[in-house]
Amino acid sequence: MVATVGPRAHGWGMMSERTRARMVERLHQGGIRDERVLEAMRRVPRHVFVDEALASRAYDDVSLPIGHGQTISQPFTVARMTELLLTGRPAGKVLEIGTGCGYQSAVLLESGADVYSIERLGPLLAKARQNLRAAKLIHARLVHADGHAGLPDVAPFDGIIMTCAARFVPQALVDQLAEGGRMIMPLGDDEQYLLLLEKTPQGLRQTRLDPVKFVPLLSGRA
Ligand code: SAH
Repeated sequence: MVATVGPRAHGWGMMSERTRARMVERLHQGGIRDERVLEAMRRVPRHVFVDEALASRAYDDVSLPIGHGQTISQPFTVARMTELLLTGRPAGKVLEIGTGCGYQSAVLLESGADVYSIERLGPLLAKARQNLRAAKLIHARLVHADGHAGLPDVAPFDGIIMTCAARFVPQALVDQLAEGGRMIMPLGDDEQYLLLLEKTPQGLRQTRLDPVKFVPLLSGRA
């Protein structure tokens, strides 16, 4: 006798593989070209990272609520930010600010990065840990802290990705970026855009990119 089979096991497993392949097709059509990113998003079971009630929408190109007033970004934004961070070089050591449900961490892990991720909300971090385990991705180092300070003991990082919107660029994070490293973050308040920062021998190069909409970077732990 086979034990109870939930939607996360058989049924969804097969279906999600097809839906995921279609999602990746759309990402490619939208201009995402880095094979590591496309392959990672083909592999990570996004439906595992959202509440079961939302699982059927997990592969639509929309952002979804993940509890505690926070949201998981739409697949295109995750792909775009990961590509901007990694393209043209080894993934290396990456710091994420804003673990949320853990989906972005999962995509980074599957893209080959050595992942450290900070989340200020304890219950959300616990959920992320559970989600990553369910997706059989156990190698992310998750930290319950205010991400403003980064992780000075682990720095320097080849890449830093912030998945909440800051009103200014936290200097501690810039300091923890390796020479040649890149940081990608949403900047702004009501109006936000992606900012790419590259630490070059000539100094910090900043490029303003796509308009976006993220939840805010807040202070303190909760
Ligand atoms: N990357 C996430 C997206 C989460 S939304 C995912 O894939 O699901 C942004 C997250 O940033 C929220 O969980 C929010 O609690 C967190 N956050 C906001 N300010 C923070 C801070 N100062 N330090 C760490 N995390 C923060």
